[in-house]
Amino acid sequence: MKAVVIGGGIGGACAAIALKRFGIETAVYEAVKEIKPVGAAISIWPNGVKCLNYLGMKDALRELGGNMRFMAYKEYQQGQTMTRFSMDPLIQCVGEQPYPVARAELQSMLLDTYGRDQVQFGKRVTHVEESADSVTAWFDDGTSATGDVLIAADGTHSIIRQHVLGYATERRYAGYVNWNGLVEIDESIAPADQWTTFVGEGKRVSLMPVSGNRFYFFFDVPLPKGLPQDRTTVRDDLQGYFAGWAEPVQKLISQIDPQTTNRVEIHDIEPFMQLVKGRIALLGDSGHSTTPDIGQGGCAAMEDAVVLANMLQTNSLGIEDALLRYQEKRAYRVKDLVLKARKRCDVTHGKEMAVTEQWYEDLKTETGERILSGMCETILGGPLE
Ligand code: FAD
Repeated sequence: MKAVVIGGGIGGACAAIALKRFGIETAVYEAVKEIKPVGAAISIWPNGVKCLNYLGMKDALRELGGNMRFMAYKEYQQGQTMTRFSMDPLIQCVGEQPYPVARAELQSMLLDTYGRDQVQFGKRVTHVEESADSVTAWFDDGTSATGDVLIAADGTHSIIRQHVLGYATERRYAGYVNWNGLVEIDESIAPADQWTTFVGEGKRVSLMPVSGNRFYFFFDVPLPKGLPQDRTTVRDDLQGYFAGWAEPVQKLISQIDPQTTNRVEIHDIEPFMQLVKGRIALLGDSGHSTTPDIGQGGCAAMEDAVVLANMLQTNSLGIEDALLRYQEKRAYRVKDLVLKARKRCDVTHGKEMAVTEQWYEDLKTETGERILSGMCETILGGPLE
């Protein structure tokens, strides 16, 4: 069996690694010459970590992961702690810990594990064609690649999605802008072993430790879509949006590097249940685009990769049957993740300010139990439980 994998991001790379481990011939075609991930870092929750462990990256991932032992929410004006708790009950519940990692390092680990030389860069798919016993991807340089199965891991702007669904989907603006980046750990801003989040006014400022003595930081601000983006005003913009916020937030803004700070307008796509057509499977953001509010988009792509490879390996009624079994296993899971993230997104970002204010109140009495049990449930929905 030969698998053509389109896209060399988290989803495509994990799929290629998983298929290769089962001895399935793979070739990865990636549109860009050099992959530059949209975000600085990513939190890999235990369901994603287990997939990477399963794919042979247990030790490599631990080298990259930050030491995130505690979680805390802080009130925005004085920086007073609303709640702080250990993440140990979560780890005990699910059997693995979360690892926040720098994206560039995650991407390198994935490509090194797969084999960089087996990825063909600068190959942008324009369309796909199926016949009774094969599938072909056509690239914008006029070349093509044919295989028995095609994995469309071409991201949220997927062009293969329309071929699979038979209609175009629209990305839905979630109502907020996210700035993210990496900064050296400064314990006067937040403890080095804690995921710290300042909340107020429907905005948030968050810090997570990654390896190399760095914090992954992000700022969320509810804003209209389409405002001009200008790196030279990032610091001023953030100072304006976070005027009156506590000293650690001001300090963080003064320490960020505007040149490496990303600005992303956050979107998702209304979930759909069809993930496959014939010999083609959507995987990762092409099949389910979520807001990052529960940090599960990349983890879901890892889950997809494990399930898809298992279905192709363990079933013998043919590729189309194996893909339908993949769809059956994944469609409800990924829909649930997208909708959970959307719900969290609305509460966090003041869609209805009264609901958000109530959440702030609830945080003051939170012991960790409610938050961690919600996370635990999400994580235990993964395929390796
Ligand atoms: P992508 O990473 O987008 O990769 C798609 C690849 O396909 C790209 O390399 C692209 O160049 C290539 N491609 C596109 N079109 C073509 C084409 N026509 N031909 C060939 N190649 C093509 N997830 C988490 O799990 N935890 C988090 O903490 C988290 N935080 C996030 C924070 C932010 C701000 C954002 C925006 C997302 C976050 N996510 C998180 C989600 C996560 O980034 C995505 O779910 C994940 O990157 C999806 O991987 P993918 O491989 O499906 O898509």
